[in-house]
Amino acid sequence: MTANLFKHDLSTIDPAVRAVLARKPAFYIDGQWTPAAKSLPVIDPSSGETVAAIGAGGGDEVDAAVKAAKQALSSPEWGKLGPVGRERLLHRLVALIEENAAVLAQVETIDNGMPSWFAFGPTILGAADVYRYYAGWPSKLAGETMPVEGPPGAGVFTGFTRREPVGVVAAIIPWNVPFMMAAWKLAPALAAGCTVVLKPAEDTSLTALMLADLAQQAGFPKGVINVVTGRGAEAGEALVSHPDVAKISFTGSTVTGRRIGEIAGRNLKKHTLELGGKSPTLVFDDADLDAAVPGAANSIFVNSGQICVAGSRLYVQAGVYDAVVKRLGEHLASVRVGAGLVPDVFMGPLVNAAQKQRVENYLDAAAKAGFQVLRGPPVSAEAGYFVSPAVVIGAGQQDAITQEEVFGPVLSVYRFADEAEAIALANDSAYGLAATIWSQDVGRVMRVSAALECGKVIVNNSGFPYAGLPEGGVKGSGHGRDLGREGVEACLRTKTVMMRISD
Ligand code: NAD
Repeated sequence: MTANLFKHDLSTIDPAVRAVLARKPAFYIDGQWTPAAKSLPVIDPSSGETVAAIGAGGGDEVDAAVKAAKQALSSPEWGKLGPVGRERLLHRLVALIEENAAVLAQVETIDNGMPSWFAFGPTILGAADVYRYYAGWPSKLAGETMPVEGPPGAGVFTGFTRREPVGVVAAIIPWNVPFMMAAWKLAPALAAGCTVVLKPAEDTSLTALMLADLAQQAGFPKGVINVVTGRGAEAGEALVSHPDVAKISFTGSTVTGRRIGEIAGRNLKKHTLELGGKSPTLVFDDADLDAAVPGAANSIFVNSGQICVAGSRLYVQAGVYDAVVKRLGEHLASVRVGAGLVPDVFMGPLVNAAQKQRVENYLDAAAKAGFQVLRGPPVSAEAGYFVSPAVVIGAGQQDAITQEEVFGPVLSVYRFADEAEAIALANDSAYGLAATIWSQDVGRVMRVSAALECGKVIVNNSGFPYAGLPEGGVKGSGHGRDLGREGVEACLRTKTVMMRISD
């Protein structure tokens, strides 16, 4: 352990990052910054220190933002802007994100704790690619035209469908990959011609506020993108309950998702819910262990396990079980944990004190239950919310560590005999977000992929989101899909036009 592995020095950060931290708490509503009357602290998870403040919005701010978004829907600058105009704006936003990627990444690291490499590449540049992908959609969105046979003697008809923006989209996102989660919600909504009110997570709002600045610079008209920060129970709940919101696009925990689903159902609002997961990784006897072991480990240790699709349950076929456990132990020792801005750190701290406590509680309970708990390198106990990665061996299928989402760097390992048992164990979960298969047998991969109850199957890699392919879950992991064609379809509604054209 080096002396400064758990401390990054904010006194030497880029002045542009310092300027972001020094901003007065404000909301971005109708193209303007509205000062906040109440604020919330922004805590750097690597140090536990307060480094900035954001606005604590509520019903009034949400109402102003939704009204602005509703007005912008039919404005000449946005509502009447053609599809190529929307593409141009999205492409300008992509260019600005890429120009500002280094600053955005540093802010994301300070706000969320994630290490620099994960902030810069997968999070900020990854989000730019999501906007780039959706920038291609507006000019390809089209309805259908068809001949219509009317009642006898009624004349000649034709019919067509129009794909229209659904309206104001409420985008509510979690803290785990903030800038990327915002892109998953905003990019398809903007491509469809909707307007958006974004409510970022209270722990990680800074890059959402920077996004508002970049959107303004890109030329998005006022009211098209609004950002209201604040607590879920206040700003979030006011937003999902607002009568002028047409669609709720939510990513977060299953508990919150259920509540939002109830409110949306009561008000008959379109909604997509991307919720928690407890994703299985299946390693078969024929897997390439040189790839499978680090792959399975990375799937749960990247971003400290705070990834919705993280492979938190590892099922290993009996023939390679001992070899996999041995290699996992060796891998654990090599995971470099430290403060996010320290170079070459693989894993940063967890996002907040409560999350760290929650993870340690699961590990204490596992040890008390008599399971073997292997830990990675020791972490600083002084400050910050660091957790050493862990592998738990010996838990049963119905134990809490197997069934509940820990959302931390904790991998539980189990043994299976054959394909049928692997599928049964993988599907024995209230969740159904993702699953990973490690096998070199194509037939097996095809059979198991079809049998798994989940929204995404990852084969022989540790997984990453690709903007063109949908992401989402089944069962307790929610419904609806982000990304891909389905992401933009969810922001559109269809209108049928039936026309009599002659006798
Ligand atoms: P959370 O549900 O506590 O919060 C998510 C967001 O909802 C935050 O912005 C929060 O302020 C807001 N919120 C909370 N209560 C609300 C309410 N009553 N009404 C409206 N909004 C409310 O989740 P979290 O702890 O921030 O995020 C972690 C969870 O997100 C994990 O369960 C993870 O699996 C899930 N997640 C899922 C995906 C996916 O694609 N399925 C992706 C990332 C994270």
